[in-house]
Amino acid sequence: MEAAGSPTTTTTATEDCCVKVAVHIRPLIGDEKLQACQDCVSVVPGKPQVQLGTHSFTFDHVYGSTGTPSSFMFDECVSPLVDGLFQGYNATVLAYGQTGSGKTYTMGSGCKDGSQTGLIPQAMNALFNKIESLKHQIEFQLHVSFIEILKEEVRDLLDPNSSNKSETTNGQQGKVNIPGKPPIQIRENSNGVITLAGSTECSVQTLKEMADCLEQGSLSRATGSTNMNNQSSRSHAIFTITVEQIRKTNSGDNINEPMSDEYLCAKLHLVDLAGSERAKRTGSDGMRFKEGVHINRGLLALGNVISALGDEKKRKEGAHVPYRDSKLTRLLQDSLGGNSRTVMIACVSPADINAEETLNTLKYANRARNIQNKPVVNR
Ligand code: ADP
Ligand code: MG
Repeated sequence: MEAAGSPTTTTTATEDCCVKVAVHIRPLIGDEKLQACQDCVSVVPGKPQVQLGTHSFTFDHVYGSTGTPSSFMFDECVSPLVDGLFQGYNATVLAYGQTGSGKTYTMGSGCKDGSQTGLIPQAMNALFNKIESLKHQIEFQLHVSFIEILKEEVRDLLDPNSSNKSETTNGQQGKVNIPGKPPIQIRENSNGVITLAGSTECSVQTLKEMADCLEQGSLSRATGSTNMNNQSSRSHAIFTITVEQIRKTNSGDNINEPMSDEYLCAKLHLVDLAGSERAKRTGSDGMRFKEGVHINRGLLALGNVISALGDEKKRKEGAHVPYRDSKLTRLLQDSLGGNSRTVMIACVSPADINAEETLNTLKYANRARNIQNKPVVNR
């Protein structure tokens, strides 16, 4: 995903910061109301503290239910990351939670819900507002990519003819092989920067063009899903915005002053993770069935990376961090324990029927708060 021909990235250490974790509690929705579900998640007034039964967890922020209104989420969690892009800091927003907990709604990476109010559309707006105010001093180049990781295959959501496009035949997962189109590969360049080779990098000039990429990719994700098993719940969708800036440092007053350009490059990954549940409940009739115990390799590896990084003792002992165990963790290597400012939004349902999964989500997210990142300015 590194822009072709971009100058070598050199970095300067500037700060240490922990992964920030926010919880987004959505309201009870249709099915849950029909089943007369009770609200089992409560927020301690005035505190970012969530209670579920006898369990209590503190986060950086809590939104929804009776916590802070979710309209504050962008300003508190994502807006500082967008500002950081202009200083050359990479950033990542991860939406985690069980299927139906509101990840796609929160991110705004779906085709309908949250398409205006979601974090991605708001991030794009903020980005272009800032560019508008700086465009006289700085030259900008923007690229977006949008990929999906499904069963350890990377699918290019901006290339409708991708060889990795998933197709369903009789409910079975199949693949369309288009000769000549090599699969997308995750690579690490000599500077340790993770790149995606072979994915579409759209160069965009306007907010409309960027919004079109988001919409096109979201549609492609939706139509790649089967009806029987909604694959979007099993795939990770990663929308990445790359911001390159060249600042002209010559004031223009003195023609003898050498012209020196300052180059900065930063990426924002916006990630709608696969559903975190292990045994899936499907069907609007409330029927329960197990699909065997399906464990998503990316989420399993993500959990192992979080526990290796979040445990101070393990970290001091230099424990192995299993980034290479999945495509997701390989691609997001910098986002966890590396060169990125990272926010995880843990999405939960308040309904008592989801209490077990909600507790799992709160525990998982709580561990991520211990991760220390080392964001640096990418020159
Ligand atoms: P996920 O992506 O985690 O599977 P979705 O984002 O698709 O979940 O949300 C599941 C359902 O809940 C959708 O119908 C969505 O419209 C609704 N929903 C999610 N979050 C909210 C919210 N904050 N307010 C209102 N409805 C929501
Ligand atoms: Mg979703």
